[in-house]
Amino acid sequence: MAAPTTGVAIIGAGLSGLTLALALHRQNIPCILYESREASLDIGGAIMLSPNALKILDALGIYDKIAPLGYHFEELYFHSDDDKPVDTFEFGSQTKHAYKALRIYRYELINVLVSMVRDAGIPVQYNKKFTHVVSSSSSSVTWAFADGSSATAKLLVGADGIHSRVRKHLYPDLVPKFTNMIGVTAVVPREQLQAGPDYPLPVTIMSPKHGAFVIAPQRADGSEVLIGKQRRLQQEYDRAGWDELMENKTWCVDFLREGSADFPPIVANAVTDIPLKGINLWPFYLVPKLDTWAKGRVVILGDAAHAIPPTAGQGVNQAFEDVYTFAGVVARVRDQKQSEDDEQDAVRISKALKNWQLGRQARVDLVLDLNDKLNKRRLPDAVKAGVFEPFDMDWLYGVDFDQMIAEWAS
Ligand SMILES: Cc1cc2nc3c(=O)[nH]c(=O)nc-3n(C[C@H](O)[C@H](O)[C@H](O)COP(=O)(O)OP(=O)(O)OC[C@H]3O[C@@H](n4cnc5c(N)ncnc54)[C@H](O)[C@@H]3O)c2cc1C
Repeated sequence: MAAPTTGVAIIGAGLSGLTLALALHRQNIPCILYESREASLDIGGAIMLSPNALKILDALGIYDKIAPLGYHFEELYFHSDDDKPVDTFEFGSQTKHAYKALRIYRYELINVLVSMVRDAGIPVQYNKKFTHVVSSSSSSVTWAFADGSSATAKLLVGADGIHSRVRKHLYPDLVPKFTNMIGVTAVVPREQLQAGPDYPLPVTIMSPKHGAFVIAPQRADGSEVLIGKQRRLQQEYDRAGWDELMENKTWCVDFLREGSADFPPIVANAVTDIPLKGINLWPFYLVPKLDTWAKGRVVILGDAAHAIPPTAGQGVNQAFEDVYTFAGVVARVRDQKQSEDDEQDAVRISKALKNWQLGRQARVDLVLDLNDKLNKRRLPDAVKAGVFEPFDMDWLYGVDFDQMIAEWAS
């Protein structure tokens, strides 16, 4: 039997889902979270947050709690394989955008979000795997879980990641596309680099032969660094195959060490001793551009709607933009409600959500465009040709989300 109708039901208690719950709570919109796992997904070590996302996390009262936990920086540095600086990329700026960038372990961010969700009294049900939508009307939607139970809400939001099951309701045949790029990462103490305190970090060192090697400090004091290498891989695996490859630590260590003699000494130092515990493998998938992120009372956001390649480091940052603006738009529509007519209500919410999706997609498109520009700068010929003009990042970091919400919900 379906449970009584709640306001917004969120499938997935990952970064998007948990933050969405807090954003809705701030707007006095009741919600509930359902997560298929025993705990929220914790993959890939640390993530980098830029001012656009940090502004949102600040508005939700999250920033003050996470700021002491992470490593603050402003620029990403790019070097050639003979260790010459060729480019920089602004990831944050205290003076220009009010926030330095923050690199923080995903589990630390999740812990803060989970405890805030608990303190707010928002229910979270773990081991609840969404399977499919059973029925949908102008006023509610009912769906099923893998354990045979079902539930009903006014809005169902799929924040269930790149392999989203909720997305199947909108696009039954869509499967994310493998980009033939993978990244393998590990964690080593900073002192292992044997680089002086003035060596610019985070750095990406680009080899025409072996791809990009990344070194990025983490922990509040920068005492450990992520080391990572990206390169092409022709073969695609299924999920079990990727897991097996990640568990093959010898393969991962060999991948990280391959060609290190052709990089500057800092790379050879970085890979001398690689603890197996912190190794991660990240196959880069993308979700093709979708015409719509909503069907009736079912909406998708975060990676479910637009998983994007990691070049500009915007994956999770764009997900935070989705959730904040989504909650704002839904609250505005509620505040403007003029009658109890379900049909009219459905028309108004679907119009506002269409505006929201088009506005958000336009920003995601600009990020994809930035990815392309950055990829071009990383081509061997471009690297050889020399130093580049810095990008103006104001369009990405300096936006007013509340103004966007007002426009989309009007
Ligand atoms: C190894 C790795 C490293 C990464 N590093 C970075 C980085 O440094 N910077 C960056 O910006 N991005 C990074 N990304 C991308 C980033 O992880 C995503 O953009 C981000 O996690 C998206 O958040 P999300 O909440 O939308 O999805 P997810 O984080 O995937 O969360 C989805 C949640 O939904 C749950 N779920 C899934 N299916 C169901 C179901 N049927 N029923 C109920 N619950 C379900 C999952 O268990 C999970 O908890 C990385 C990705 C990987 C794989």
